[in-house]
Amino acid sequence: METESHLSCVRCNQKYPLAAGGVKFTCDCGGLLDVVHDFSVLPIQDERILKSVFMQRRWFQDTRGDKSGVWRFRELVLPGLKDHEFVTRGEGNTRLYGPDLFTRTNRYIGGPHVYCKHEGENPTGSFKDRGMTAAITYAKRSAGRIVACASTGNTAASVASYAALTGMPAVILIPEKGVAIGKVSQSLAYGAKTVKVRGDFDAALALLLAASEQIPGLRILNSVNPFRLEGQKTIVWEAFEQLAWNAPDWIVVAAGNLGNGSAFGKAISEARALGLITKTPRIAMVQAAGANPFWGASQNGWRKCVVRADTIASAIKIGDPVNYDKAVRAITSTDGVVVQVTDQEIMDAKAVLDSDGVGAEPSSCAAIAGLKKMVDVGVAKWNQTVLVVLTGHMLKDPDATVGYHSSSLPNLACSRANAPVTIDPTVEAFKKIIT
Ligand SMILES: *Cc1c(COP(=O)(O)O)cnc(C)c1O
Ligand SMILES: [Zn+2]
Repeated sequence: METESHLSCVRCNQKYPLAAGGVKFTCDCGGLLDVVHDFSVLPIQDERILKSVFMQRRWFQDTRGDKSGVWRFRELVLPGLKDHEFVTRGEGNTRLYGPDLFTRTNRYIGGPHVYCKHEGENPTGSFKDRGMTAAITYAKRSAGRIVACASTGNTAASVASYAALTGMPAVILIPEKGVAIGKVSQSLAYGAKTVKVRGDFDAALALLLAASEQIPGLRILNSVNPFRLEGQKTIVWEAFEQLAWNAPDWIVVAAGNLGNGSAFGKAISEARALGLITKTPRIAMVQAAGANPFWGASQNGWRKCVVRADTIASAIKIGDPVNYDKAVRAITSTDGVVVQVTDQEIMDAKAVLDSDGVGAEPSSCAAIAGLKKMVDVGVAKWNQTVLVVLTGHMLKDPDATVGYHSSSLPNLACSRANAPVTIDPTVEAFKKIIT
């Protein structure tokens, strides 16, 4: 591929050729690798023309790449690919719900102008598809033979789907317990080899990283793979575009393995460098109080911390996040914050968000709970504009939703439960329940 892109270590700046990517994820010093593009060779330099090219591709959808909310930004994601090389399901191009649509949620948060970008409306129901199209496109191009991931569920669903498009076999490692049923069903249905590892997510990922060194042709598609983050940058670019390139004051997102928040930081700094936006939004990463290693580090002078994770928000149930260094960079370079919220706060926020008629899975709703907390303590202000990224679809975890509404979640008060009622088949009984 004739591009001016390369890999660069976030710790020591050591450079590696792009061709090493897809296989090599860490520098010899142990640091994470970034994909770095040389934007000085972009054929279009004027930011107004660049914006109109991105937009026109979305309107006219002339090519496979143009139809994708990731590849219509291709010059800034992974330049130099041919249209037939994209492994794509037309991911991205997700809705941005304005304050008029989430009225109950906005009242609950109480303050700023909130826009929710719903990444649960991607092909497999989570933002993971944005990263997956980039990582699997590169895996295929770099002669990968098998793709694999360790996953709390959504990465697995996305890997399984995109691998099926390529014909490459997929191996999925999930924790033996605690993966939401909607996500497991996707991996099985899409035909991935689904392996339950005795242990938690952190154990499954450690196993995969160790095994990969001994299996040539194996391509790991976790967010330690820097091509994933290149695809996920487009979440915020697309949101900026939907806001007429007026950057919001805050971007709030749930954080587990810290890949998405890190991708947002890179997207913001590149958008600033290219002149696409003129102010730097602050990133807020929200963790569950039971899975809060990054919050702990933020309180402790960024001393890295590892926890035994436990939360109902299974997609962020991660105790030893792999993208730690990149996430610190995203927070410090945007003057961001790290927030933690309890499972009670997450599920109450979810009940409110769901009742607006759109909904999201528990992990996504940590962002709503976190924003409410930021407003309560005065970190986010009433006259500010906030972009909340909702990460996953409501149907991913029906057990959590039904559990809440039937008040059967252990140790949680379900004060906003909308419990089903049972009646005899009589008009009398029917009338009684609607009055
Ligand atoms: C993966 C995922 C997250 C966490 O993203 P990270 O990049 O691991 O921080 C949050 N919510 C949902 C629904 C996810 O699938
Ligand atoms: Zn290094």
